[in-house]
Amino acid sequence: MSERLAPKLRKIGEVRSGPEGEVATIVYNRRGVRFASQDGRAKMASKRYKNKTCAYCGKLGASQSGDHVFAREFFLERDRGNLPQVPACVDCNNKKSALETYLLQLMPLGANHPAAHESVRTLMPKRAAHHGNKALLDVLNGPDATVFLIDQSGQRQQRIPVLIDANKLQDWCGLVARGLANFHWGVATPNYSVEVMPLTPEVERHILELASSRKNGGHIEGSIGDGTFEYRGFMCGDGEPASLWMIDLYGRMPIGGDPDFSRACAATWAVFITPAF
Ligand SMILES: [Zn+2]
Repeated sequence: MSERLAPKLRKIGEVRSGPEGEVATIVYNRRGVRFASQDGRAKMASKRYKNKTCAYCGKLGASQSGDHVFAREFFLERDRGNLPQVPACVDCNNKKSALETYLLQLMPLGANHPAAHESVRTLMPKRAAHHGNKALLDVLNGPDATVFLIDQSGQRQQRIPVLIDANKLQDWCGLVARGLANFHWGVATPNYSVEVMPLTPEVERHILELASSRKNGGHIEGSIGDGTFEYRGFMCGDGEPASLWMIDLYGRMPIGGDPDFSRACAATWAVFITPAF
């Protein structure tokens, strides 16, 4: 990382510690962002994941390798053991990997989990030094703008926005939910549609009440990497593999909308995997 960029990244890490200046991630449609080059994800060619049904697209016998449902690079090195893995075909692996390469540059900047500060301090300088990581370099080279947000407790706070392409984040959440459904319940639902949306805490509460009141379906909760990612999943039951997932990213990082129009924050992503009609 150039000397010029280092202070900015440090600043993004430092302001997190104060309640008034936490970094926010504002999800915002930002077209035309190019993917950065791959940062060398290790692929497992183990037999265990070969010629199985792809967890993501459901193609029979198509998997070539295992894929970490949450890529290893999202976590501090000490938290990279025992991550959930599923069989994946080459196409899905590449598609998910490209999304992760983009998200790895930005999402940690909005993190709220206990190791968020350490994660920015130890993992991000290397990414900022990589000239292919254009999305991150755009943030570091961009203006020091701040926005006001209403946080999860209803407080108005001034924060530094990090703009993320919402379509990429949604596509990735959809793949993660499919991966989790496969990992926990062994289901692949190739013809089902996937809808992904950010939920404000109130809507989240209502949906949780509704989902929890169903007694005959599956229910799973997980916490990965010491709270880096958390999720709750509800399956329909009665042989119907439709499911609902709530995925909390990086300690429920605050998710806003277009900063010009919205100030309300969501804290979690809901993924609905339902039969397509
Ligand atoms: Zn696939």
